[in-house]
Amino acid sequence: MSDFSGPDDYQKNFDPKAYLTYYTMTVNSKENEFLVFVLTQLAQIFNSGEVKGETLIDIGSGPTIYQLLSACEAFKNIIASDFTDRNREEFKSWLTNQPGAFDWSPVVQYVCQLEGDKISWREKEARLRKSIKQVLKCDVMKSNPMDPVVLPQVDCLISSACLEGACKDLETYAIALKNIGALLKSGGHLVLVVALECPYYMVGDVKFSSLFVTEESVRESLGRAGYVIERWEKSKASDHFWETSTELSGYLVVVARKNA
Ligand code: SAH
Repeated sequence: MSDFSGPDDYQKNFDPKAYLTYYTMTVNSKENEFLVFVLTQLAQIFNSGEVKGETLIDIGSGPTIYQLLSACEAFKNIIASDFTDRNREEFKSWLTNQPGAFDWSPVVQYVCQLEGDKISWREKEARLRKSIKQVLKCDVMKSNPMDPVVLPQVDCLISSACLEGACKDLETYAIALKNIGALLKSGGHLVLVVALECPYYMVGDVKFSSLFVTEESVRESLGRAGYVIERWEKSKASDHFWETSTELSGYLVVVARKNA
């Protein structure tokens, strides 16, 4: 149990700059199989018209924006969130175009390409920045994760690789899914990106625990928390991938609807 990385570990030891090295997209995108798979899925989901509305909340954004690049085609308003102060600062640094902010442009260009080069990458960045209205503190363990802020229920939630880090067991995982579900309208969509069968991940030199979830346990937890699964895409991790920084069997991108 003591191996679990809790809130204090995140607040003290999660270095956003070290984490962002995962998202350095090189020409050889083989190293970025996670990004390639997830961005392709998200481009399909948010450009197909199957998931759209006024407002989307990103749960546990961390210091990253890749997960919102296609979402801003389907939602006018985006609310980002994270538990740690440093992650929210790093996120805002990109949002307000500060010198020294992480360079997302290779990733932004890749997403533009996936979407058929309808707009330039600079226009895409501007569109995303314009759509992000707030960056809030969030704790998925609270019954209102945005406490003390009370938000009206929204049309869509997205969450990527957050709950596996935040939850110590499957019981808590289902509770967290339920807690975030309170932010969602009945019939609204949850887009969930999951690292499958991953026991830990490295952020620089610091090891963070990750809840080991299988496809079956994700399916069951979603059901328990009141969601109906609509789309289920899995990609297997290649053997060599990330071998020094984590072990995992694959990734899932799931679209589920909150039961009316
Ligand atoms: N979504 C990003 C970051 C994932 S890393 C990505 O796709 O890369 C895991 C994130 O979960 C970290 O940013 C961490 O601060 C956040 N987190 C950890 N515990 C949390 C909690 N209880 N509530 C909300 N976020 C939490």
